[in-house]
Amino acid sequence: MDWRTKLLQSAPATPAGFESLVAATHRASTVVFPSMDEVREGWRQSEVGYVYGIYGTPTSDELATRIAALEGARHTFLVPSGQSAIALVDLTFCKPGDHVLVPGSAYGPNVEAAETLLGRYGVEAELYNPMIGAGIASLIRENTTLIWCESPGSITMEVQDIPAIVAAAHARNVVVAIDNTYASGVLFDAFAHGVDVSVQALTKYIGGHSDILLGSVSVATQDAYERIGDMRRTLGLSVSPDECSLALRGLQTLAVRMDRIEASTLEIAEWFTSRDEVNVVLHPALPSCVGHEFWKRDFTGSAGIFSVLFDPRFTTGQVNAFVDRLKLFRIGWSWGGVNSLVMAYPTLTRIDEKYHGRIVRFSVGLEDVADLIEDISHSLASMK
Ligand SMILES: *Cc1c(COP(=O)(O)O)cnc(C)c1O
Repeated sequence: MDWRTKLLQSAPATPAGFESLVAATHRASTVVFPSMDEVREGWRQSEVGYVYGIYGTPTSDELATRIAALEGARHTFLVPSGQSAIALVDLTFCKPGDHVLVPGSAYGPNVEAAETLLGRYGVEAELYNPMIGAGIASLIRENTTLIWCESPGSITMEVQDIPAIVAAAHARNVVVAIDNTYASGVLFDAFAHGVDVSVQALTKYIGGHSDILLGSVSVATQDAYERIGDMRRTLGLSVSPDECSLALRGLQTLAVRMDRIEASTLEIAEWFTSRDEVNVVLHPALPSCVGHEFWKRDFTGSAGIFSVLFDPRFTTGQVNAFVDRLKLFRIGWSWGGVNSLVMAYPTLTRIDEKYHGRIVRFSVGLEDVADLIEDISHSLASMK
């Protein structure tokens, strides 16, 4: 064999029997078949075997299978980000002429996708009050095909009555999808509460270290499995095995991180309740959070984000300056990593209340909680 050919042949067989504790990182576009008889097609690799890298490698399969097991899903599809998970669900369940309901408390780009992406294809998006509960029945139309939930909501943290919304939706054959990122698929059992599709930004707690972008779409029903799988294939959404291997590593420490983050966050949120600079502390485990009773009924714990609403005597400038003075809480989008983060929202509005310039969201990491409280306390002291 010419050396040019040798360069392209795989190594002589390495010894069999290698076992480690780590899932291997398999990179592939092409999967080779032993013969024409054994050539396979289609995206249903979990039924027919490996076909092509875009439908998954053993690394992404391992991650998808574990997320499905944690969420109790029929199947989990992986996608490049949390936002692509949302867009995939939108494009799967809506066609021209349809109507979609999105909570006013949803992650901003979710609302944007419904209003602009779907709007462009003749789908009407309507925002609803996240606390509507069974009242959502009155918003469901003949052409409503999808209801989004997100609980707690982004930034304003409203916990929704999911079973009530599911009951109203299913009575009219409407699919219910939830953005279950806050719960990381473990603090709230979406499928036990009747939801059809659960999406997560694995970017957050599953990745856990602010260094990957990845999303998941988990489905409960065969119908959702077929439809999401077809659309994922059409859109060509694939994930990097390197990101998947980091998410698999993240899963190994998810429990200890979440436990520690839950305790620190509760301590900081409770500390805030005694401060007169803020009027409301929006943490699902505190009675001051809208929908706290549903958190108590449906959740098994809380995560590391909460918001505070500053007293109206402070200007937006003063609230921004409070954020600027923090040293351990870094200013940045996203959350769920080991470093504490903070963000003010000077232009945030919600359906029935203005939070303009007064709301600040914290994402608590793994720093010592006394240091974090000291950081906040120090910055508050300069607000007078
Ligand atoms: C961050 C986030 C997303 C989007 O995740 P990306 O991976 O950053 O695209 C979706 N939903 C919620 C609730 C989020 O916080």
